[in-house]
Amino acid sequence: MENIAKQLALDERYLRMAQVWSENSYCKRRQVGALVVKNKSIISDGYNGTPSGFENICEDENDKTKPYVLHAEANAITKMAKSNNSSEGATLYVTASPCIECAKLIIQAGIVRVVYSEAYRNNDGIELLEKAGIEIKHVQLQSYEQSSTE
Ligand SMILES: [Zn+2]
Repeated sequence: MENIAKQLALDERYLRMAQVWSENSYCKRRQVGALVVKNKSIISDGYNGTPSGFENICEDENDKTKPYVLHAEANAITKMAKSNNSSEGATLYVTASPCIECAKLIIQAGIVRVVYSEAYRNNDGIELLEKAGIEIKHVQLQSYEQSSTE
């Protein structure tokens, strides 16, 4: 029981860090942050945005998200491809539930656990992760804020 409470507290902390990290995103429509954690260390991070070297603007003139904007999870996973870190067996913390494209990357990256806070209206990504046997945990951060004001 104590371990479960400890894990939940840890999950909430990492999720809040991912939420703070999402503030780096210059996207106007939606800001998402992601952290990859392994053995209690953050081995990668990401937020949604355009690829390196591109303008820091996510929306086109019609206020639509540009097709080449990378999601936070994709940025966190591809960042590891440039590093010596391996995501095998890691946990991904992300402020919004992953889409199906990111779910594919999460599976192939060997990530075994996904913790997210905000549920996306489309559940395809979560369903794919479940099918792949990845442990999924939904933690609502709002409830944490409420409980801290008691
Ligand atoms: Zn995605």
